[in-house]
Amino acid sequence: MRKVENLGRPAIFTLNPYVPGKPVEEVERELGISGVVKLASNENPLGPSPSALKALEKAIARVNSYPDSNCFYLKKDLAAHLGCREENLIIGNGSDELLKLIAETFLEPGDQVIFARPSFSEYEFVSKIMGANCTAVPVKEDFAHDLETMAKQVGARTKLVFICNPNNPTGTIVTQEELRAFIASTPPDILLVMDEAYYEYVTDPHYPDSLQLVEEDSNVIILRTFSKIYGLAGLRIGYGISRPEIIALINRAREPFNVNLLAQEAARASLKDQNHLKQSREMVVEGRKYLYQAFDRLGLKYVPTQTNFIFVDTFQDSKEIFTALLQEGIIIRTGDIFGYPTYIRVTIGTRRENERFIAALERVLNSRR
Ligand SMILES: *Cc1c(COP(=O)(O)O)cnc(C)c1O
Repeated sequence: MRKVENLGRPAIFTLNPYVPGKPVEEVERELGISGVVKLASNENPLGPSPSALKALEKAIARVNSYPDSNCFYLKKDLAAHLGCREENLIIGNGSDELLKLIAETFLEPGDQVIFARPSFSEYEFVSKIMGANCTAVPVKEDFAHDLETMAKQVGARTKLVFICNPNNPTGTIVTQEELRAFIASTPPDILLVMDEAYYEYVTDPHYPDSLQLVEEDSNVIILRTFSKIYGLAGLRIGYGISRPEIIALINRAREPFNVNLLAQEAARASLKDQNHLKQSREMVVEGRKYLYQAFDRLGLKYVPTQTNFIFVDTFQDSKEIFTALLQEGIIIRTGDIFGYPTYIRVTIGTRRENERFIAALERVLNSRR
């Protein structure tokens, strides 16, 4: 007899579930402690902008209405903010949704998709669910994208190339020069998805001006988000920037009310509070310095970062470090899910959180010597 469980599309059986960061509430419940610090999902510890909170309070009474399907006002604000046109923009329920929409718009079973390893796990997920074949190209020794090898992997069935810039979990960037060389050496009929979730944290002057590529009519989609520096991860809102023709195509696959009303209002208010952005950026730049020094002192190797997280080699099983840190009330990420079992990925927190993390890490390392 036919069993419903067996009727899933073949692609469904190729998927591995996403491993989210452990929630604070879960750790506090399990260990019976409070004051747990989560440095595992690259969230902004300063919270949302106060203006976003005010906008949310005002908007909440209107949630009996459907949201604006077209995100008219947010697109207007974003276009002014970025210096592009509304037609260049698509808004998503997080940039995760946009990744999925891009895959649904372009991928047929058997198409090829290229991305780096390690990189953001969603690229593989959205590609596999459409039945596409994934080519994951290992990063170079310095943990940056190996764009030359990625370009060589482009074949007749290649449709999408995902570049995570800066890369999650390594924190490295692809430079303007490398990106230009990649585009020049690949056929014009592939779509380049530049995932810039940590764009606002980048301080390296060699970081590419990807908006310029869109203006030049390159086949590039830029993805950015309100989840990271803007501190709105819980509301789910991100955006894509591309040529109007590409945006129109992806828009066909979009659900009409994909972005909720509260998220639209909070995003608009956040954009206007560039002070909060500046504060968040400064906190991270200081945090980088503090943590680099601490890792040096503890004899740990780290990858210099352009983001609000750091990829660190502990030279031992990082799952054990993770468990020991959890007992200290600190949540981080282990590198095994990225193929680096001795590494951890830690989000840069507030000064106090960073100090608590380092003190706990030092105790954990000492007790294991
Ligand atoms: C967090 C993250 C996203 C997802 O952002 P949402 O807008 O919350 O969906 C996308 N890409 C990368 C690389 C990320 O780290």
